[in-house]
Amino acid sequence: MNYKNFPMVPRVIFGRGSFNQLSDILTPNRLNSKAPFIYLVDDVFKNNAWLTSRILLSYDDKVIFISAEEEPKTSQVDALVEDIILTSKERPSGIIGIGGGTILDLAKAVSIMLTNEGEAKDYQGWDLVKNPAIYHVGIPTISGTGAEVSRTTVLTGPTRKLGINSDYTPFDQVVLDSELTKEVPADQWFYTGMDCYIHCIESLTGTYLNTFSQTYGNTALELCKEIFLENNLSDEESQEKLMMASWHGGMSIAYSQVGVAHAMSYGLAYLLGVKHGVGNCIVFDHLEEFYPEGVKIFKEMKKKHNITLPQGICADLSDKDFDTMIKIAMGLEPLWENALGKHWKKTITKEKLRSLYQKM
Ligand code: NAD
Ligand code: ZN
Repeated sequence: MNYKNFPMVPRVIFGRGSFNQLSDILTPNRLNSKAPFIYLVDDVFKNNAWLTSRILLSYDDKVIFISAEEEPKTSQVDALVEDIILTSKERPSGIIGIGGGTILDLAKAVSIMLTNEGEAKDYQGWDLVKNPAIYHVGIPTISGTGAEVSRTTVLTGPTRKLGINSDYTPFDQVVLDSELTKEVPADQWFYTGMDCYIHCIESLTGTYLNTFSQTYGNTALELCKEIFLENNLSDEESQEKLMMASWHGGMSIAYSQVGVAHAMSYGLAYLLGVKHGVGNCIVFDHLEEFYPEGVKIFKEMKKKHNITLPQGICADLSDKDFDTMIKIAMGLEPLWENALGKHWKKTITKEKLRSLYQKM
């Protein structure tokens, strides 16, 4: 047996208001006055002085606002890297991502591509990155994806949606300040929160499970049940707990894998641009046969929070469209193997996936 040797986020700060300590954290990491810190910030905060006034810029530091309307693309990473190289006197001191999974993934990918030649699409896959990334910091403003702890940055490229999975991908520093999540809209809170819940179910029922993954997964799952099914939490407690659920859910899949919902949701994302959180929910809602207990509880959570998922998104698709989605989904072999074991191809056929997609 050859056990994997994973890197972890080496530094993390947790606490309401800890965002105020950002400049103390960054200062010792500044290389020199010509090497700026570049902040990639979700543009939902553009006119939000409560947050932006606390980003303290010195020398040539700059803030780039980025829309999280669409999931990150390899071409977007390449364009950002080019812009940063052209406008900075020297290689930056660091990249700071402030936002949800979309912005965190962009920050990770940009920090890698600043020190590696070629285009981001060349590094989609496992362990293709050659040089260490520049210093990068992740500051989540919505909880659930686990992107703040993971060893991947999920990008849509010209031919596939696949992460840059590498030892250089994890952040050097994470700031967990749950106050930053206080204005997340309710439906988005649910979708991204369910990403965490689904990570737990897929990890805990998977064939790759080991005790490392299980302990993190169980903790995250208990937190999710408390947050999404009980009534006794204050907003503040709920925000703090979801932030830690996200962290533990991410740690759980580090040593295992996700499963059926993620594989199929990647297909929806690639073809239709359906975003990760809501896409996972749309798929998971139809996966009773794979995750009976998990889907039952998901439906209770959905009901409790009055969530209506989009329906009929596959209604008008052509045969070619279905084939594209199925190809993307079936290409994610480790996810299927985790979900169903080595002989997954016996149950998962093109016809089977098509019949599932047709329900969505
Ligand atoms: P997101 O970053 O796409 O943001 C969703 C929406 O919430 C956006 O409209 C955004 O502007 C808004 N938002 C974020 N913070 C807010 C705040 N504090 N107040 C108000 N609005 C706010 O959402 P997400 O679900 O966190 O991330 C999804 C992305 O994460 C996908 O691209 C997916 O591929 C990726 N992902 C990555 C990993 C990983 O390990 N790297 C894991 C899971 C998902
Ligand atoms: Zn996910």
